[in-house]
Amino acid sequence: MSYQSVNPYNGKLLKTFEYLSDKQVEAALDGAALCFEKWRQTSFAARAAVIAKAASIMRARVDDFARPMTLEMGKRINEARGEVEFSSNILAYYAKNAERFLAPVKLHPTVGEAHMESSPLGVIFCVEPWNFPYYQLARVAGPHLMAGNVLMVKHAGCVPQCAIAFEKLWIEAGAPIGLYTNLLITHEQSEHLVDDRRIKGVALTGSAAAGRSIAARAGQNLKLSSMELGGSDAFIVLEDADLEHAIKWAVWGKMYNTGQTCCAAKRFIVVEELADKFLAKFQAALAALKPGDPMDEKTTLGPLSTESALVDLVRQVEGAISKGAKVVMGGKRIDRPGSFMEPTILTNIKPENPAFREEFFGPVALFFRVKNEEEAIALANDSDFGLGGSVFTRDIARGKRVASRIDTGMMFINNISWSDAELPFGGIKNSGYGRELGDMGIQEFVNKKLVRVASMEAPA
Ligand code: NAP
Repeated sequence: MSYQSVNPYNGKLLKTFEYLSDKQVEAALDGAALCFEKWRQTSFAARAAVIAKAASIMRARVDDFARPMTLEMGKRINEARGEVEFSSNILAYYAKNAERFLAPVKLHPTVGEAHMESSPLGVIFCVEPWNFPYYQLARVAGPHLMAGNVLMVKHAGCVPQCAIAFEKLWIEAGAPIGLYTNLLITHEQSEHLVDDRRIKGVALTGSAAAGRSIAARAGQNLKLSSMELGGSDAFIVLEDADLEHAIKWAVWGKMYNTGQTCCAAKRFIVVEELADKFLAKFQAALAALKPGDPMDEKTTLGPLSTESALVDLVRQVEGAISKGAKVVMGGKRIDRPGSFMEPTILTNIKPENPAFREEFFGPVALFFRVKNEEEAIALANDSDFGLGGSVFTRDIARGKRVASRIDTGMMFINNISWSDAELPFGGIKNSGYGRELGDMGIQEFVNKKLVRVASMEAPA
């Protein structure tokens, strides 16, 4: 199989790209390793000039980047434009702040003086998913390039045009050859890269299955890795919530990117006083969404990224139903060309049902009714994932107390799991480890080196 760009709105094949040969991968790796030796000596100001230039190119040509995304993975065009702008912001943020984040930190030993400095590691290999074809790349490129590392990136099989556009961006921004390399490669070639001594770290964003495989490989090689994996975020509505406010976020949190977001709201946990009203309003809002061309700004429901994503999700829903889940709405593919799925709500998902522990990556909401706050917290924590989550209440102090008791990497009060350039993003449990974005994101692949000065006599 080669990399294939297919429009999920109508199933048309747009372009195919061959895998690189092993020889080409080897040459690219040589180039990256060579580039690192110069880039590591390049000043923060000179690095920032390249990264800021890439940010400004993206901002100036939003549509040029957004359109291939809509064409090859079906993101609605306005969301695609938003993603391009956000990616530009992330690059600009690190161009501006990296030197401050990585400044030496003075220590206070009892004898002499000491500091910690942050030096780059080398070539970092990144494996990235299709659901945010540029944002995911910006999340690794901004921090790690500013830290002095160089990147080799294996993007997902269904978004080769976006992958290539992002590589071209760096050439246009004046990056030295080898600073950012896009690799159209197989899983097997990815594994060999992880083994290669020139690769010094591995960052993966994707499913728990991919994370297990690549993290194990990195572990065998004693290489640093960061894993940004799936989630099944709880959306908790307490009895004192502003219902209208919560409904708007529920719809956005579930349906943004057609539900194909790691930190999408996936488990709706509503206290019984509000449960019936919430469910009725939520269902009505989802029923109002209209499938259409994601290139049309008026479309409110886009396709899933690929035909196989749709087939797998419908099968997963059928599996949940066969084990006792009840369908409130949806559950099937929409009878029209393209990979469209009905917005779906499932209830009665008992812990014995495998669906209880699965991630549903698409427009499928799992709805749970609970007695009170305690039950909501217990249910939210009864998950193998631990990415984000949200709690809706008019009492902010109560919201913070609940947030503190949920076992995830991120919690949001009266809004949904989302990211900003300056806020660390990541999870625990099967949602992975390590953080991207913010100050923490740039610390993942640097050598925290101790330097001590103490002119004392050696012990006799
Ligand atoms: P995926 O199947 O795991 O793919 C992600 C990337 O990993 C792709 O580039 C894929 O390549 C590659 N890959 C998969 N198995 C591999 C292996 N054994 N060796 C080398 N590379 C491998 O995930 P997806 O379906 O594209 O993305 C959705 C998942 O990502 C969801 O679980 C979602 O929650 C998660 N996600 C997490 C975050 C976060 O920040 N925590 C953000 C976005 C998405 P191919 O396409 O060539 O198979």
